Amino acid sequence: MRIGIDVGGTKIAIGLVDGTGRIVARRRILTESWRGYGPIRDRILAGIDGMLREGGVSGEEVERIGVAAAGQVRGDRILFSPNLHWENAPLKADLERVTAIETFLENDVNAATYGEWKFGMAQGGAHVVGIFIGTGIGGGLIFDGRLYRGCSGVAGELGHITLNPQGYRCNCGSTGCFEAYCGGAYVVDRVKKRIEQGYRGKVWDLISGRPEELHAGHIEAAYLEGDEVCTAVWKEVIEYLGVALQNLVNLLNPEVIICGGGVIEGARQLMEDARGVMEKRALSPSVADLRLEKARLGEDAVILGVTCME
Ligand SMILES: [Zn+2]
Repeated sequence: MRIGIDVGGTKIAIGLVDGTGRIVARRRILTESWRGYGPIRDRILAGIDGMLREGGVSGEEVERIGVAAAGQVRGDRILFSPNLHWENAPLKADLERVTAIETFLENDVNAATYGEWKFGMAQGGAHVVGIFIGTGIGGGLIFDGRLYRGCSGVAGELGHITLNPQGYRCNCGSTGCFEAYCGGAYVVDRVKKRIEQGYRGKVWDLISGRPEELHAGHIEAAYLEGDEVCTAVWKEVIEYLGVALQNLVNLLNPEVIICGGGVIEGARQLMEDARGVMEKRALSPSVADLRLEKARLGEDAVILGVTCME
């Protein structure tokens, strides 16, 4: 048995995974990230304990704990996680001391890419790129069947490749990043601002006059119905996602690009629209053998990935 843990900014998902890669028990806890590192670590420990007890599994039967978190992870520490407000968190040592089970830390998007590669839609490829578009954008790279971490362990920051140096401001401090163009929070923000300035239109009906509920799926739906503001905003999303894909295929020539995350899941035809842009712009040998796939494991990809990574 192995335990996989996905520590997100709002919730922590814990799964008990058997030798065949099946999740046989689960737990969900709210993160309450404002409490800081110590209390969250203790909630994780209590969650592990509760799940094992409920499942009638002893600690000795668990060969490993894998923990995935958003942010930069190196070996035994979570160097920096903006969602969790952690810096240099010694999670590996702390979990090992209490549970006496070997613990492994990983970035959540690397884990999701790995999980989709081993158990989901990217199976079979030796060169795989994972792109996860939620509020922001994260990426994972697998070359020759191994996760590529780079020299400092922080490779795969696909969200912060620059697509337009004069473009929108990004939360990373730079401008014109892929994330600033296609990240859900940024895209929603652009439409919300126009609504706050008094814009109405098809989108207003789609959200029943409740801007706080606006998400990327509404913007695509409004674009498909010809809403003026959403058409301008969404066409930009399609174009820039297509350009990001083009850059990645020209640079890396992967067999599979796997796209997941809330924005991809919530959109009806974004992947196909962006594929058109990519194919028009990319060098044709770079896309000839490419499979562009939608992730299918959802949040299970992280738990499965982090339990089986090496
Ligand atoms: Zn950025």
